Amino acid sequence: MNNDNLFHNIHEECGVFGIFGHPEAANLTYLGLYALQHRGQEGAGICSSDGTKLFLEKSLGLVADIFNEKVIKKLPGHIAIGHNRYSTTGSSTIENVQPLMATYSLGSIAIAHNGNLIDIDPLKQRLERDGAIFQSTSDSEIILHLIARAKSGEPRERIANAVRQISGAFSLLLMTETELIAIRDPYGIRPLALGQIKDSYVVASETCAFDLIGANYIRDINPGEMLIINENGLNSIKIFNSVKPAHCVFEFIYFARPDSYIFDHICVNTVRKELGRQLAREHAVEADLVIPVPDSGVPAALGYAEESGIPFEFGLIRNHYVGRTFIEPKQSIRHFGVKVKLNPVRDALRGKRVIVIDDSIVRGTTSKKIVKMLRELGGAKEVHMRISSPPTIGPCFYGIDTPTRQELIASSHKIEEIRKYTTADSLGYLSIEGLRKVIPNSDIYCMACFNCKYPIEFQSKKVSQLELFE
Ligand code: AMP
Repeated sequence: MNNDNLFHNIHEECGVFGIFGHPEAANLTYLGLYALQHRGQEGAGICSSDGTKLFLEKSLGLVADIFNEKVIKKLPGHIAIGHNRYSTTGSSTIENVQPLMATYSLGSIAIAHNGNLIDIDPLKQRLERDGAIFQSTSDSEIILHLIARAKSGEPRERIANAVRQISGAFSLLLMTETELIAIRDPYGIRPLALGQIKDSYVVASETCAFDLIGANYIRDINPGEMLIINENGLNSIKIFNSVKPAHCVFEFIYFARPDSYIFDHICVNTVRKELGRQLAREHAVEADLVIPVPDSGVPAALGYAEESGIPFEFGLIRNHYVGRTFIEPKQSIRHFGVKVKLNPVRDALRGKRVIVIDDSIVRGTTSKKIVKMLRELGGAKEVHMRISSPPTIGPCFYGIDTPTRQELIASSHKIEEIRKYTTADSLGYLSIEGLRKVIPNSDIYCMACFNCKYPIEFQSKKVSQLELFE
């Protein structure tokens, strides 16, 4: 096990949705999860309450395959939370699919978590010494144990006390028989938005989930806020001291859907297009076409094309029925996956000088395959790779699934070396300054994947190894 692996437990790069006060709570949650499917394809679950009892249905697979009328009928009530789980190596078990539910002295409680906790080992060991039996390998279960084991207090006090003991990224939805509770970590790392549909409140990772059900986006759950939603309406409690926010910039670059508004009403598509424009200003090259690596490269490619005046074309077609290649556990399968996922449009590319835009290079495998494909299958004369983010040099500990530092090609290779590896005619990454120019109020963002400046200090000994990254 290398040093980085020490920190890479189970990643919780997921989507959450919750609703209070709607007669068809589970049905709307299903729709919300459907809109958030891009945030996790490994498994999904919904927990509902009829005011007296919690009901839970979850399974491995895609939302549309798990939930049908029969399953939704088993989820009665006016409150519900749901979760889409992202797949990572070695964790594809039903036990890890959320929401997680537990029954304790005060009743039942369920949790759906987006984000990744850090420094969990000491907490987990303490709980295990005290007799806790963990049913999953998911960090989120720790929160349930902390709540259940609190000596006294109302559920909401116990919940606040529990989350004050954890560290890392957490956009959380919890529910009891009578309440929906939304919590965001003090840094506001992952997004979490509040919406309204008639008299019901909804909370979701991204606003694209609101659009599908006709809800209005009101505001974000504030960093450090616990928002209790019950029959009396909304009750906002600040449960953490204010710190400088550290929203995840990678949500803009890759993870969130372009039609979503995140981090206080900022449109993801607008940011991505602007990143493309900035990239064009920084890395101009003579060419005949600008093509995106679909889907994540599309808005940036449009921006690049607009700024450079070079025509935009769909030169690669994506098969939408294949999971994200990144999910595949083995190197060999991932290599194969790029071909399964993308195919060049030969007629558009033949003999052309092509600028291909992707949002990021992680290991470099995808770029290498794409350049080869554009040249050999597509017949492109020149292939110029442009990346709408800076070189990815630091693994994410807060919930974006990145490999270990050693596997991040840009952590150990110069840009010219990466270009050579990908066999592109030229390669240009967006600069950090360029990224900062585009992101409004950029100093309240975590950019650790690009600058190795991690906003949350690690307490455990292991993490002093992080210094290796500097
Ligand atoms: P790689 O082949 O490892 O360089 O992966 C680069 C590709 O993965 C790019 O096309 C990105 O759009 C995509 N990508 C970047 N980050 C992630 C992530 N966290 N999960 C899934 N795909 C990603």
